[in-house]
Order: sequence, then structure tokens, then C-alpha cells
Amino acid sequence: MTTYDNQNIFAKILRGEIPCEKIYEDDYVFSFKDVNPQAPSHILIIPKGAYLDINDFSKNATNEEIIGFNKSIPIVADQLGISEAAGGKGYRLISNAGAEAHQTVAHFHVHLLAGRNLGPMLVSIK
Ligand code: 5GP
Repeated sequence: MTTYDNQNIFAKILRGEIPCEKIYEDDYVFSFKDVNPQAPSHILIIPKGAYLDINDFSKNATNEEIIGFNKSIPIVADQLGISEAAGGKGYRLISNAGAEAHQTVAHFHVHLLAGRNLGPMLVSIK
């Protein structure tokens, strides 16, 4: 996908056309529960701007948007109590970009996963 489709599911969530379980919102980001959780806490954080993936976002978003997005991560993790700083046991971030990464929604998003031992990140190819 190389052009942004404003009919993607997260664009619809941002516009309030599809319901979601909201976790956090500010000027730059919207955060909500993943509908198909892979861990007890599985949260998505998305920028309010229209960006396809991290490649597009980090290249084309303003510094303000990029900083706003990054600063939202510990806010959400602390709010959920999953960061070690907030007394939790830690969390993992995943952001899929493109076909081989199995990105299924072409609006940049970061998965925040926690609440169980997540094991190794990927299976070794050796
Ligand atoms: P990706 O595969 O693109 O990295 O992740 C997309 C994520 O969006 C998946 O984990 C999927 O479960 C989630 N998702 C897809 N449609 C919806 C929806 O309508 N609502 C919510 N809350 N999550 C969704």
C-alpha cells in the first residue's frame, strides 16, 4: 500500500464511525483496545494524522507529531500500570510495516502488549 485510504478501519475509529474501547487520547494520538487481543493488555496507539506505517510517519510527520506520539507511549503504559515505572512487569511494542510484516490496517499503529510473559520476540531462523 503506498497511498493512504481514508476508509481504513482506524480512520473510521478516529472519526467515531466505528466504536472502540478508548484508553487514551490527546492532540496527537488515539489509543484503544485491540479487538483481537494477543495478551491480557493489547492496546493500539495510532497518530491522529493520516500515515500508512512507521516508514511514512517518521519520514513525513512533523517533529511535533513524532514527539507527541512517542511521549504517549509511557503515558499509556503508566496509566495501565504495565510499565515497570508504574509497578508493572513491562511491555512490548510491535509495529508492522508492509506485507511481510503482516500489516493488516494501513494506518500507522503501535501494538502495546503486556500482562503475561511474552516469550522470545520471534522464532530464530537458525
Ligand atoms: P496489524 O496486523 O496491521 O499490525 O494490526 C492490526 C490490528 O488491528 C490487529 O491486531 C487487529 O486485531 C486490530 N483490529 C482490526 N480491526 C479492528 C477494529 O475494528 N477494532 C479494533 N479495536 N481493533 C481492530
